[in-house]
Amino acid sequence: MDPCQAALSIVNALEEAGFQAYLVGGCVRDRLLGREPEDYDVCTDARPEQIQTLFPRTIATGIRHGTVTVIAGGHPVEVTTFRVEGAYRDGRRPSHVRFVRRVEEDLARRDFTINAMAVDRRGRLIDPFGGQGDLKRRVIRTVGAADDRFREDALRMVRAIRLAAQLEFTLHPETEEAIRRMAPDLARLSVERVVQELEKIWKTRRSSKAIASLFRLGMMDHLPPFRRWELPSSACLSPLTVLDEAPSRRMRWALLLHLCGQKPEEAARRLRELRLPRRDVEEIGRLYRSAASWPPILTEEEGKRRIFRDGIRFCREALELSQRLGAIDAEERLGQSEALNRWSDEMPIRRMGELAVNGKDLIDATGRPSGPWVGHTLERLADAVILGRLANDHQQLIEEGVRIGRDTTADP
Ligand code: ATP
Ligand code: MG
Repeated sequence: MDPCQAALSIVNALEEAGFQAYLVGGCVRDRLLGREPEDYDVCTDARPEQIQTLFPRTIATGIRHGTVTVIAGGHPVEVTTFRVEGAYRDGRRPSHVRFVRRVEEDLARRDFTINAMAVDRRGRLIDPFGGQGDLKRRVIRTVGAADDRFREDALRMVRAIRLAAQLEFTLHPETEEAIRRMAPDLARLSVERVVQELEKIWKTRRSSKAIASLFRLGMMDHLPPFRRWELPSSACLSPLTVLDEAPSRRMRWALLLHLCGQKPEEAARRLRELRLPRRDVEEIGRLYRSAASWPPILTEEEGKRRIFRDGIRFCREALELSQRLGAIDAEERLGQSEALNRWSDEMPIRRMGELAVNGKDLIDATGRPSGPWVGHTLERLADAVILGRLANDHQQLIEEGVRIGRDTTADP
């Protein structure tokens, strides 16, 4: 059973139990466009308790807001009771919802016409706001008066930009004008909700267009956390198209920092402000710093040391980013990329774990108590091995290690 069949089986079961039920939202839109939906959503006049009784496997995802996740054929499908929303307290979450009887009322609370369509099990389309026409014209237009809809939930402005990039649509002129007017309302959004949309923007092939719109419509000046950054004016932005060619989300985040005029030294702080997971803060920061300081001429020594320290995959990524940052040109990158591959193949060891001695060997051989000298000695031995000055041979390394250890305290 594929996810679509799973969702349809739920619609069928609800109808057979005497309820109304429809596929709704993004999945209807994507299927009309011939795109593979991310996920399938079902809406119904059944109440959450009734949904839970009807299906054996459910998860109480957001009972208060009317949402139950039903597992059908191994696929989770969100099933939501027809509802309208109360005021959005602080522009984040509706303070309350009210269940309603008619699907049209539920569709009216949705953000854009193309997202406000439902389809029943016989394939009958419910489209009260001209969603199909807007799909044909490839425009993003709010359901109802744009200013009001953005006042209710400012995230819809960011979703408009994200959807336009994802579907390669344009904004309806009225929707675009409303964004310009309502942009100050973005300040109330939580960083998490903003970043979630940015992550979706990174998955599109038109990231640059979306980021350009955020600047052009004056949204960046108000969006958390960017509103607190010192941003370049739209006129001074370097070409954003580098974003579209970047192969990973990590690289896109690093490029965004660069395009927003944030120095590598500030990267960690900025990434923390974006509330990215700690691992991303560390890795994206490291990537950005490494790329920004990447040398136009890479010597064999430095190249091999970088490969040993950071790994070949990281080096390839940093090299690529450094070209996108403009630190090196395409020709330099090509030459270096070939050299890095060659050096990596030549290196007898690529990780400390591959060195033919370890700390315990050194302590046993010297009889000295453990201390910082052990790590320093290992580093010097590894360095000599990767540069081809010593063989990765246990006996030879022990002898050299003892000598280094005796010679000095082996502190560099
Ligand atoms: P995606 O392809 O990313 O899944 P989607 O349109 O399905 O896009 P979701 O966030 O999954 O987006 O939301 C599902 C549906 O819920 C939307 O199609 C829309 O009808 C409605 N919706 C989501 N967020 C909002 C919002 N902030 N305001 C109004 N309606 C919304
Ligand atoms: Mg969806």
